[in-house]
Amino acid sequence: MSYQSFNPSTGKLVKSFNEITDPEFEKKIAGAAACYASWRHKTYAQRAAIVAKAAGILHERVEEFAHPMTIEMGKRINEARGEVQFSSEILAYYAKHAEKFLAPVKLHPTIGEAHMESSPIGVIFCVEPWNFPYYQLARVAGPQLMAGNVLMVKHASCVPQCAIAFEKLWLEAGAPEGLYTNLLISHDQSDRIIDDPRIKGVALTGSVAAGRSLAARAGKNIKVSSMELGGSDAFIVLEDADLAHTVKWAVWGRMYNAGQTCCAAKRFIVVEKLADQFLTAFRAALAALVAGDPMDEKTTLGPLSTEEALVTLLGQVDGAVARGAKLLLGGKRIDRPGSYMEPTILTDIAPDNPAFRQEFFGPVALFFRVKDEDAAIALANDSDFGLGGSVFTKDTARGKRVASRVETGMMFINNISWSDAELPFGGIKDSGYGRELGNMGIQEFVNKKLVRTAHLEAPV
Ligand code: NAP
Repeated sequence: MSYQSFNPSTGKLVKSFNEITDPEFEKKIAGAAACYASWRHKTYAQRAAIVAKAAGILHERVEEFAHPMTIEMGKRINEARGEVQFSSEILAYYAKHAEKFLAPVKLHPTIGEAHMESSPIGVIFCVEPWNFPYYQLARVAGPQLMAGNVLMVKHASCVPQCAIAFEKLWLEAGAPEGLYTNLLISHDQSDRIIDDPRIKGVALTGSVAAGRSLAARAGKNIKVSSMELGGSDAFIVLEDADLAHTVKWAVWGRMYNAGQTCCAAKRFIVVEKLADQFLTAFRAALAALVAGDPMDEKTTLGPLSTEEALVTLLGQVDGAVARGAKLLLGGKRIDRPGSYMEPTILTDIAPDNPAFRQEFFGPVALFFRVKDEDAAIALANDSDFGLGGSVFTKDTARGKRVASRVETGMMFINNISWSDAELPFGGIKDSGYGRELGNMGIQEFVNKKLVRTAHLEAPV
């Protein structure tokens, strides 16, 4: 397998890259380990100088970084620009707050005094997905580099240009050789790096299948890991929701990034009283999206990331229909060059339909009509996933009660504003474990050491 940039809006190969050889691979691991030996002793201010510089470069050169994303995985250019800017903000956030987050914490034992201190653990191996080619990298780089760890990163095989651009960013920001290493490696080499004693932790964002494989490997080696996996988030609409406001979020929540977001709204669960009105407005808004060149700011519907992703999704929709689901909208590929899919709504998905439990990673909405709030919560919880979810109601207190009863790592009331540098991100169940972003994100790969001082005689 090799790393290839295909433009999914044209179907044309842009550039190929070879995987690295085993001797190159070994040299890179040795380089990262050597870098850790000195990086761990740098002050927060010294680390922050480099991390903040990288943030500044992203902020100043949004256009330059945004283009490869649009070319390699079809993200609409305005979304790509937003992602570069947000990645810059994440790095800047950790440059500013890391020292405070990792400051020693005083404890209060009955005898003597004690504190917890945080220290880096070493080289962390990260495996990242293509759907947010820089944001996912910033989510690990900001906290981990500020914590004093060193990163080796395997990015998805369809976004090698973004992967290489992000590595160059660090060198340009003044990072020492080995601080951030991009790895164009195979799955087999990925397994071997997890086994390598110089690697101390594993962070994956990706599918459940990849999670099972990497978490098992990390577990076998007794290495700490964090898993940010898939999701099938419920978008709950109660009968007292503001319809116009709700439909706008429904469209954005399903269609942002052409529907390829882990915590996208995927299951639309609407209380009977509002169901018809919601469905009519939602369908009309999805049908109005127009496919086009993702480089054109006026385009409202971009391609899927790869032809393979499109074929998989079309297969899932056909499978759902074969088992009794109804197609209310779309369901087909769009007749034009590139890997485009019609915005799609599926209804009547019975619990024994495989689609009921699947993640649809693209512009496909699963619609469910329910009797009331309790039924909405029960359906939301009848999922193998537990990443995020949302609830729409004019009664905020009611929204909070519903949010507390949904079994996920994140809930949003009257919005689905998923990500913010300050807010922890992550899930439960098959959506994985661990958190990225916020204060919690920087605590995942640090040694929490207890230090106790007490002038006690040893027991005899
Ligand atoms: P994927 O196939 O798991 O790929 C993600 C990354 O894992 C890629 O770099 C891929 O490399 C690598 N990978 C896969 N299997 C591997 C293995 N056995 N050993 C080593 N590396 C392996 O995921 P995807 O389907 O492309 O991405 C979408 C998935 O990611 C969705 O399920 C989505 O929900 C999830 N996601 C989750 C979050 C979150 O924060 N929870 C965020 C974004 C996406 P190759 O490309 O070389 O195979």
